[in-house]
Amino acid sequence: MTVRTRIAPSPTGDPHVGTAYIALFNLCYARQHGGQFILRIEDTDRQRSTSESEQMILDSLRWLGLDWDEGPDVGGPHGPYRQSERGEIYAEHAQKLLDAGHAFKCYRTSEELDTLREARREAGEHLALKPNDLALEPEEQARREREEWPFVVRMRVPESGVCVVEDLLRGRIEVEWAQIDAQILMKSDGMPTYHLANVVDDYLMGITDVLRGEEWINSAPKHQLLYEYFGWPMPRLCHMPLLRNPDKSKLSKRKNPTSINYYRRMGYLPQAVTNYLGRMGWSMPDDREKFTLDEMVSQFDIQRVSLGGPVFDLEKLTWLNGVYLREDLDDAALLQALRDWAFNEAYVSQILPQIRPRISTLSEAIPLAGHFFSGLPAINEESFEGINLERESLVELLQFLTWRLEGVARWEKETLLAEVKKLAEQLEMKMKNFLAPVFIAVTGSAHSTSVLDTMAIIGSDMTRARLRHAIETLGGVSKKQGKRLEKRYRDL
Ligand code: GLU
Repeated sequence: MTVRTRIAPSPTGDPHVGTAYIALFNLCYARQHGGQFILRIEDTDRQRSTSESEQMILDSLRWLGLDWDEGPDVGGPHGPYRQSERGEIYAEHAQKLLDAGHAFKCYRTSEELDTLREARREAGEHLALKPNDLALEPEEQARREREEWPFVVRMRVPESGVCVVEDLLRGRIEVEWAQIDAQILMKSDGMPTYHLANVVDDYLMGITDVLRGEEWINSAPKHQLLYEYFGWPMPRLCHMPLLRNPDKSKLSKRKNPTSINYYRRMGYLPQAVTNYLGRMGWSMPDDREKFTLDEMVSQFDIQRVSLGGPVFDLEKLTWLNGVYLREDLDDAALLQALRDWAFNEAYVSQILPQIRPRISTLSEAIPLAGHFFSGLPAINEESFEGINLERESLVELLQFLTWRLEGVARWEKETLLAEVKKLAEQLEMKMKNFLAPVFIAVTGSAHSTSVLDTMAIIGSDMTRARLRHAIETLGGVSKKQGKRLEKRYRDL
């Protein structure tokens, strides 16, 4: 049977390095077996999914050279490849489970669910709600059905015993059924949950091997049971170790930039990023650090993945990127890389209107526009001396703005202006005073081109990275302080 693997991102935010890492291993695994690699968009969470995010994910994976054989943009025989376009398929399959008695309609209200959980907590039992907990008296079930109460479809799960799941890297994984709840398969709005859609699609798309992050291990028993209910063969499972920060905590944007857009803006080469991701828990047989994607494919062996949490270390990546720049690119290639990166008409023409009002000789262009090309500005605590705010308030302002900007889907000057205005009002500050420290954080100096235009041009990831850098420069935010800030921010 042809090996078919997939990456199944949910388009709910920035394109994450973790997605690229899992995509890379799926691609290598498929290619090494002469198989195919598929991209499927899991956008059943209609509230959080956006087409901008989907586009960014496709763009960044392609930038990294991780091409797919089938997907929403390239088509293929098993489409559509976007779950939001497959609603009928899931409804049909949920009905099959209902008809066979493997799933049931659950009319419980959220208050009732809370009470049921509370009862379990008091009895010292697992909080997972089981079919027996959820069952209503037959007359009550019939009444709610007749009166057309909202309902969800849940799967039946065993009350007790042990579920054994085989994993390519981890061997036998045992999970007690007592921990596993009667998972919702269809929500009350008729949308499937991840579990139903994922299993149905993996089967219909002929996926033979599922390589995904270890955070999905707990879902495996439910998925295995769904395969059994449908009478389908189960793909091989392989749960990859999660990427970690150098302090071994789970890779998070608080400690490291996690968006591929950031690395692209910062001027990392795609081949260096892909190479570095290939070093996450995996090594070449001769342990060499530098290798191409083709070399990785030809030497790939999933069994050489080690489970000790791979550390995504910015310094190492930067070192490797430097090796590529210095050793691999001749002058012509380096010039081309610079062009692809920022020295091109599309980017430079956005900057010209910014420097035009200030320029008097061409030789001033680079000093005036430096902050559009640099990474994190060279600032220190003294850079903020002219600002009439305590360190605490400065940090608070920059942190609040960072959080506010995380939610901006359309990164344009008008939207940014509206957000900044709103936040300044909430903090009861004049716009001018509010923007003064932001100016320094984003442009690196107190006098420069318009800060909002700069933010719009350098993009969301670079803007937020510079704000975070300024916060660090001012001493950072301790865990305790972070909690306090979060509360203040919520109360705004
Ligand atoms: N949509 C899931 C995600 O965002 C896919 C998980 C899986 O590969 O099964 O990671």
